Amino acid sequence: MSSPAVVILLGPPGAGKGTQARMLEEDFGLVQLSTGDLLRAAVARGTEAGQAARAVMDAGGLVSDNIVLAILKDRMAEPDVAKGVVLDGFPRTAGQAEALDVLLASSGQKVTAAISLEVDDAAMVERIAGRYTCATCGEGYHDTFKQPAHAGTCDKCGGHAFKRRADDKAETVRARLEAYHAQTAPLIAYYHAQGVLDRVNAMGAIGDIRKELGRALGKVSA
Ligand code: AMP
Repeated sequence: MSSPAVVILLGPPGAGKGTQARMLEEDFGLVQLSTGDLLRAAVARGTEAGQAARAVMDAGGLVSDNIVLAILKDRMAEPDVAKGVVLDGFPRTAGQAEALDVLLASSGQKVTAAISLEVDDAAMVERIAGRYTCATCGEGYHDTFKQPAHAGTCDKCGGHAFKRRADDKAETVRARLEAYHAQTAPLIAYYHAQGVLDRVNAMGAIGDIRKELGRALGKVSA
């Protein structure tokens, strides 16, 4: 891959974007950039953007493009991003995708690859309802699919505190799936038209999907 790469992970909530983004950090030295994480941090800090975003996020809707783009631009201006980024949860609307193209073009860049993680919606509610993360390092776990090797201790950092997202309740997940299909799924065609789209079956084991992503990105030439 050319450096700095801009890799986009597309897929509904629960498809494994966050999990795979963290693996792409390890495998390709990319920096994970999750607008959901940035928004949750803004909510926790009580910033103006966070206060405006909170109710929308709790209801499972999409935060306005203006707020998301402002947060994303600030993050993209930080120096570590020069290593290349994997965008997790962004873009989510046609307006965001177009704004990203403009932002990248201003520094002579473009999207390197957009990978659609393809899953069955029906399985997503169960996947999401069981998930939780280490409160210290953010490593992801699941009640059914991925417990820590030693109960109550994070495999990665040894932390003992874990947390679940407020918007991972079944009714909110349904709203989030609807938002995905109405506003984000059309981006699959957008990136296909740009010639950068790859589709990966994301219903299998985490390690197998990681290998598939590695293969997909390995094909992207400098
Ligand atoms: P995520 O962590 O990606 O599942 O995002 C959690 C919530 O944050 C979403 O349900 C939206 O309310 C909001 N959000 C995250 N990224 C975006 C985005 N790119 N555009 C609009 N809303 C977003």
